[in-house]
Amino acid sequence: MRSPARQGMAVRRSFGDDALSYLTERLDVKRLRDTLTAVVRQAKRNKAFDGDRWIGLALDGTGAGGCQEKKCRWCRPIRNKKKEIVGYGHKLVMVSVVGKELTLPLDMELYGPGDSEYSGGQRLLRRSVKSLGPRFVDHVVVDGGFATAPFVHAAGDLGLKVVARLKANLPELYEAAQRRFAGRPPDQTFRYGSDRVEIWDADDFDPWDKLRWQTVRVFYYRQHKPDGKTVEAYWFTDYSRKQAGSRAVFEMAKSRWQIENEGFNDAKNRYGFEHICHHHPNSMLINWLITALTLTLERLYRIRHLHRGKHPVLEPMELLRLLRLSLLEPADTS
Ligand SMILES: [Zn+2]
Repeated sequence: MRSPARQGMAVRRSFGDDALSYLTERLDVKRLRDTLTAVVRQAKRNKAFDGDRWIGLALDGTGAGGCQEKKCRWCRPIRNKKKEIVGYGHKLVMVSVVGKELTLPLDMELYGPGDSEYSGGQRLLRRSVKSLGPRFVDHVVVDGGFATAPFVHAAGDLGLKVVARLKANLPELYEAAQRRFAGRPPDQTFRYGSDRVEIWDADDFDPWDKLRWQTVRVFYYRQHKPDGKTVEAYWFTDYSRKQAGSRAVFEMAKSRWQIENEGFNDAKNRYGFEHICHHHPNSMLINWLITALTLTLERLYRIRHLHRGKHPVLEPMELLRLLRLSLLEPADTS
C-alpha cells in the first residue's frame, strides 16, 4: 500500500486503509476458496501425496484479531474464569488436507456470537468434501470437541472414516478404555523418529447410546521422548484393524497436531494471521484465505518442488531489477 516500490512499478496513485477495506469487503470469497481447492486437487494429481496410503482432513479452531472493545457483530466476548468479559476476538475453524509429510490449509469458516466451533466445523466439513469431490480424502481427524454422535454420523454420511480424540466428555467409553488397558502390556511397540511408542488397541468397545456404530475401536498411546518426557492420549476410530493397523492410526492421530503446528502456529508467527485490518466478515475471510493459499503454495514449492509456471525465463539481470524494486528504501522526507 505504501511501498515506495509502487512508483518503480508505475503505480502512481497512492491509496489508504479505506480503499483496502472497501476492496476486501467486496472481493468474492468463493473465487478464493475455489482457487485453494484447485491447487490442492492439482497437487494430488501431480502426486504430491504419493507414498501416503491415506489422506485425511484435519479440523481445528482458533481465535484471531483480539481487541479491547467490540468492533463488529462478529466480535465474540472473551471471558475469564469468573465469566467476566476481558476483551473481544474472532473465532474460526480451519481445515487442512493432511498426509504423512504434507499439510495443506484448504479452507476456513468464521463463526460469530450464537454460533459454535462445532457447527462451524460441520459446515466446513460438508463444503470441503463437496468441493474436493468424493474419495479425495479417506478420513477426518478431530479433537475431543468434535467427538459427538452427530458429528461422527455427519462425517460417515460424507463417506469419511473418523479418527477422534477420546476425552472425559464421553465418560463411559473413556473410563471403559482406561480400565481395559490398565496393567496390561502394550499390543505393539515401535520407533517414531527418535521416540519410542507403546500402543494399546482394541476394537470391541460398546458405543455410547447415541452412536449408531456396532462397536468402537479405541487406541491409547504412550510416546516416550529422548529427554524422558511422555505424551499420551486416547483416541477412537471406525477404521477396522484390518483396514489400518495400530501404527497407521497412531500416525493419523498425530496429523491432528500438524494443523496446529503447521497451520495456526506458522500462520500466526510468520504470516501475521492474528492481526485484523478491518472488522468485516468478508474482509477477514479474504485475508485469512490469502494466508492459507500462501502457506499451501509455499509448502508445495519447498517440500514438493512445485514446477514453475509458463511465464518466460527471466535473465538474471531482470530478476535482480525486480528484487531491487521490491526492496526499495523509503525516500527520506524529513
Ligand atoms: Zn470484530
